[in-house]
Amino acid sequence: MTTTAPVPVETSGPDVPSLVAGLRATFATGRTREVAWRLAQLEGLERMVAEREDDFAAALAADLGRPRVDAWLADLAPSTAESAFARKHLKRWMRSKRAGLPLSVQPGSARYVYEPLGTVLVIGPWNYPVYLTLAPLVAALAAGNCAVVKPSEHAPAVAALLAELLPAYLDPDAVAVVTGGPDETQELLAQGLDHAFFTGSPEVGALIMAAAAPTLTPVTLELGGKSPVIVTADADIDVAAKRIAWTKLMNSGQTCIAPDYVLVEEAVRERLVEGIAAATRELRGGASDGLRIVNARQATRIAGLLDDHGGRVTHGGHVDVDAAGGPTGEPTIVVDPRPDSRLMQEEIFGPILPVLTIEDVDTAIRFVNDRPKPLAVYVFSRSKAVTRKVTEQVSSGGTVINHLMFHVLVPQLPFGGVGRSGMGAYHGRWGFETFSHRKSVLTKPTRPDLSLIYPPYSVKAEKLLRRFF
Ligand code: NAD
Repeated sequence: MTTTAPVPVETSGPDVPSLVAGLRATFATGRTREVAWRLAQLEGLERMVAEREDDFAAALAADLGRPRVDAWLADLAPSTAESAFARKHLKRWMRSKRAGLPLSVQPGSARYVYEPLGTVLVIGPWNYPVYLTLAPLVAALAAGNCAVVKPSEHAPAVAALLAELLPAYLDPDAVAVVTGGPDETQELLAQGLDHAFFTGSPEVGALIMAAAAPTLTPVTLELGGKSPVIVTADADIDVAAKRIAWTKLMNSGQTCIAPDYVLVEEAVRERLVEGIAAATRELRGGASDGLRIVNARQATRIAGLLDDHGGRVTHGGHVDVDAAGGPTGEPTIVVDPRPDSRLMQEEIFGPILPVLTIEDVDTAIRFVNDRPKPLAVYVFSRSKAVTRKVTEQVSSGGTVINHLMFHVLVPQLPFGGVGRSGMGAYHGRWGFETFSHRKSVLTKPTRPDLSLIYPPYSVKAEKLLRRFF
């Protein structure tokens, strides 16, 4: 079996405590609070992506076998878009906001101001190693923080490239990259940084939260889970099939908001299954080889999901852990696996799509609600009553009606999980909020200085106070 253990990236430069001390010293100068500094960082980031597109594409191809157009579509373009959106709206986001005053606190004026948190940590995953590392960094810089970035060790070429480029295009005293794996991440967390933003699995998310607890480092956890697609009999089945196939194929199913499994009414199940299989063939231009899986460990895990599920494999079914160009998995459809099988318990994170028969939308809602809250829920139906019901009755990070995954591209919408799929959100203003402290500022005049408020309280004074408070 080929082992594709992560290639260690050479790190040079100061040790973690000195590096963090350097970032803190930069933050203490106050320069990162200036709007001009923040805009310059965002411009630098966009310039880096534009000027070094070839290098990013090559690194993504090396780490994940990602075609150039996919590298641009899924990693580079959304990184630039996130930064450009922040740049456009930053001044408005930064403005202090006025607040009203209850009678008891008048006269005076109240407002809240956005303060940067300080020196923050961004921990990236391997599946979209550029976008999911740069988008949180955009939010951190827009909010005026210094940042240390820890890219995933499972995308070593991208990690090395970020380590080279970020200090070259951004303020090197304010942004640092630490490469490595769990040990380096744990060491960073032990520094008691001002926020830790993690994208990864719920299992590691729990370890991050535990490591952040002793220093009370606040965390944002962008996690994963099993995102279902509910398809009712009245849906546009052809379009549903094509959209499900396309989003499942993306990055070989290794996407946090990929359709994990489908719940479909029996009347349209066969049509949907055949439609997904046909769309998969068409979208792949007739290619019949397996889809690239990031490494042997993941491929072995995915192959294991195909053991003992009790369902019917209608298409695909083969995972090649030892394939010459790296491990691969065939696009696979499994109809009606057992709900208690590993395939239906674990996040699949690969090109296998279970399709389960349901009686009606109520059964589907119960099925989803009996399990941990997903990162996304998708519903295909022509009935507004059905889509409303799913939206109202199922809790999830996000919901998309009659499509999948596109909500991630809307910077006006908060992106994040709920329950086991995560805590906190980012994108656009939501990212700025995540990396800012909202500080209340109350200004009171010194006169009049009503004696009523000070003890001792007479009966009359107490009566009056009771009317105001
Ligand atoms: P992962 O949890 O294995 O690793 C993510 C990061 O955590 C890496 O940088 C890694 O070095 C670090 N890490 C791993 N073990 C650690 C430990 N013990 N202590 C400290 N740090 C540790 O995640 P992954 O495999 O890179 O990504 C896949 C998972 O991420 C899936 O569950 C997927 O759904 C989820 N994901 C979520 C989103 C989202 O936006 N919500 C996006 C992409 C991926």
